[in-house]
Amino acid sequence: MKVLLLGGTAEARELARLLVDADVDVTSSLAGRVARPRLPVGRVRIGGFGGVPGLRAALADYDLVVDATHPFARGMSGNALEACAAEQVPLLRLERPGWEPDPAWRYAATHDEAAALAAALGERPFLTVGRQELGRFVPRLREFAVLARVVDAPGTVLPPNWRLLTSRGPYTLDGDLEVMREHGSDVLVTKDSGGSYTWPKMEAAAVLGVPVVVVSRPEPDPRASVVDAVGPALGWVLSHR
Ligand code: NAP
Repeated sequence: MKVLLLGGTAEARELARLLVDADVDVTSSLAGRVARPRLPVGRVRIGGFGGVPGLRAALADYDLVVDATHPFARGMSGNALEACAAEQVPLLRLERPGWEPDPAWRYAATHDEAAALAAALGERPFLTVGRQELGRFVPRLREFAVLARVVDAPGTVLPPNWRLLTSRGPYTLDGDLEVMREHGSDVLVTKDSGGSYTWPKMEAAAVLGVPVVVVSRPEPDPRASVVDAVGPALGWVLSHR
């Protein structure tokens, strides 16, 4: 049994480890977006497949697919659904739950809406939305004293008032308090990524009384078979042995 594990998340790395320990032939797939990715144990392939046709061709080598990509990586998840349905390869979506909503947070349906909310709520936004989305915030926040935290610097030039902080989680409460105090952050913008790696900034915002804008997750695809934790995903794979 050969498993293709679409990764790029802590859960995918954890599942890869458990599958290797269980002697399952698993190949983790990474998009290749970050310069120095955290590699899972076991076999790894890096780079896009070439859309649905490329993924369909690649599926000839696999019996099962687990899509454990990030909750906001909807392009890859959509391709996996389409390709696996066409090739009749069983597919499971592993998606960690979003954060338990806090009544104090403001939710935005899109990054553009989040930019508008941030502009209304503060003057020194702390943006933690990922490199790919930064451009969506430039039109509304060009003149603001933005601190943007990303894993790798974006290829584009950012406004002169913006400061870039390249770092990678997991983060700590003390560390995030220091970052936000030093910057004087007065509004935090994040995606509803869920999980523990990036949670400390939410605690730091609460401690500092800084408002939080949360970009909601895109709607889940109703066709997907979904589990929200690594254990059930492992059980699903092993049940196909
Ligand atoms: P996306 O928009 O859903 O995917 C765009 C394209 O990137 C896909 O069509 C595919 O290219 C390629 N791709 C994405 N994930 C891949 C994977 N695991 N293996 C091989 N190719 C992959 O994805 P994204 O939002 O750019 O995220 C890219 C990766 O970073 C994902 O693997 C995700 O788990 C991880 N990540 C994303 C975020 C986020 O906020 N979006 C945060 C943390 C980690 P082809 O069409 O050529 O196959």
